[in-house]
Amino acid sequence: MAAERPQAGVPVVIAGAGPVGLMLACELAAAGIATTVLERALEPSAMPKGNGLVGEIAGVLSRRGLLRGQKGLHAFPAPRYSFGALPLRLNPLRPNALRILPMPQRRLEGLLEARARATGVDIRRGHAATAFKDDGGRVLVEVASAAGRYTLDAGFLAGCDGAHSFVRHHLGIDFPGTTGSQLVRIGHVTIPAGAIHRTRNAIELPGGARLALFQANHTAAGSLTVAPVSVLDRGAPKELYIVATQEPLGTQEPAAQISLEEMEASIRRVLGARLPVSGGQWLRSTVANSRLAARYRIGRVFLAGDAAHVFSAGGSSLNTGMLDAVDLASRLAAVLDGSEPLETLEDYHTVRHAAGELALRQTRAQSALSAPGPEAEALRQVLGAAFRSRNPHRYLATLLIGKPARERRA
Ligand SMILES: Cc1cc2nc3c(=O)[nH]c(=O)nc-3n(C[C@H](O)[C@H](O)[C@H](O)COP(=O)(O)OP(=O)(O)OC[C@H]3O[C@@H](n4cnc5c(N)ncnc54)[C@H](O)[C@@H]3O)c2cc1C
Repeated sequence: MAAERPQAGVPVVIAGAGPVGLMLACELAAAGIATTVLERALEPSAMPKGNGLVGEIAGVLSRRGLLRGQKGLHAFPAPRYSFGALPLRLNPLRPNALRILPMPQRRLEGLLEARARATGVDIRRGHAATAFKDDGGRVLVEVASAAGRYTLDAGFLAGCDGAHSFVRHHLGIDFPGTTGSQLVRIGHVTIPAGAIHRTRNAIELPGGARLALFQANHTAAGSLTVAPVSVLDRGAPKELYIVATQEPLGTQEPAAQISLEEMEASIRRVLGARLPVSGGQWLRSTVANSRLAARYRIGRVFLAGDAAHVFSAGGSSLNTGMLDAVDLASRLAAVLDGSEPLETLEDYHTVRHAAGELALRQTRAQSALSAPGPEAEALRQVLGAAFRSRNPHRYLATLLIGKPARERRA
């Protein structure tokens, strides 16, 4: 550890000012607890990430008043959604508890950071946690910044420092799971309005091929997802789209930056046809991981968000991670105000690790439903028809009997 005297005590130090670290800081501030948030990056990242929130956290943000006065931002029951490649019709559900809050992750982080700063949170950009020691009564956190190194004396440390978490590595916590076999190429491209025919839920290509918007379009070679950026970000040009292809990984390595030509070639391989794209932005390739930390807590140090779990299907990461933050904040607040003993913090591991396991299971099921190949295609067809039937058990029994079943249309 650094030789100089540690800076005066702060109840909680948070490593990482992503959505999870900022949410934790806001929740603790609301409970009257001071925090210091260390963020390695000098500026918030402009890279587009999440497209919105799905699940309980959407309602939580609404109840915290974070959406008040924010034009176009409100959480509402999803009329439809998808589970892997299976479309879910949620409109008929009474009540329909699945809430969604579409918004770019950058805007979410901006809202949380503004709330955190307004409630007195000390956010230090360009300051990275580089080491720490939990002596049983406090955690000494070593920090590196352009101005030099220093040590913070903290009651607790929360590692909200993302999928490659330094805090998790430093604690030696295992991160077991799987790495996917598909290469996902993703980014923003322009598709000129004159080159396609766009309807509410689809685009049609000159050759007549039809691509559903907002969901994976599967072909023998992989899949292609297309979504207009303006649905999430009203100010975005109408011709700007998020595109994502998925193809077998082979010997390719994921890359932080790929060319427009690589994206275009991937689209052509997947579709067997050309989609006219230009002006690529944020083009990159990635491989999905599905992993869960073996421990969420050791002593006075905790993991939350991507530091604790990464999922292979979209939609659940922010919900699970930000709910980790909500849960951890309430437990830390209770221990810090003396209403609960220190040992109750172990319940954070018990409760949130179980939530992570559940999310891991359902996202793996979604990945299996979205996979390429004849087995996954058969799974999509059979389960899709079973869901549409009045009685899924009878439908599956009919398949086993071998009698052609009369299928209901979606
Ligand atoms: C293309 C893409 C699309 C996605 N879409 C969705 C979606 O639609 N819905 C959804 O729920 N999720 C989505 N996700 C996942 C979502 O973006 C992540 O789950 C989310 O960012 C996790 O938040 P976090 O705060 O845990 O970690 P991060 O956002 O990774 O933040 C961690 C922060 O910690 C900082 N840091 C790292 N190390 C240190 C250190 N040693 N000291 C100080 N700071 C440090 C980093 O700079 C970073 O700012 C998507 C992800 C990607 C890449």
